[in-house]
Amino acid sequence: MPIDATLPYDDQNIFAKILRGEIPSQRVYEDDFAIAFHDINPQAPTHLLVIPRGAYVSWDDFSARGSDAEIAGFVRAVGTVARAAGLVAPGYRLLANTGLDSHQEVPHLHVHIFAGRKLGPMLT
Ligand code: 5GP
Repeated sequence: MPIDATLPYDDQNIFAKILRGEIPSQRVYEDDFAIAFHDINPQAPTHLLVIPRGAYVSWDDFSARGSDAEIAGFVRAVGTVARAAGLVAPGYRLLANTGLDSHQEVPHLHVHIFAGRKLGPMLT
């Protein structure tokens, strides 16, 4: 079910549980600001999710309330994950669904990294 990105943060969401280690994930990266793990239902040969450690519902919430350090740390983490996975030369796509019309399903900010094949002009 798509979520309303204006709702308050729910600390029982699935990515909050992954962050706390309460449910398993295939983690590929972590630092003070972010963790990254494989999407459970990959839409490309490489499909990673990067999430901030902070409690933010969406890109909108993070960009409004996140500290400059958190935002910088998160952006750097996304780039580091992509570089470490060898995705820079072949290329990759970032996607951050935000709210109902985007079909955001998990109410904790996440950036998708898609790679590993030639992607079409846009994902729909
Ligand atoms: P959204 O539609 O919110 O942008 O994307 C949510 C993503 O989270 C989907 O691609 C979905 O496959 C992934 N996902 C949902 N539940 C889990 C889970 O428990 N573990 C992992 N690794 N990914 C999940």
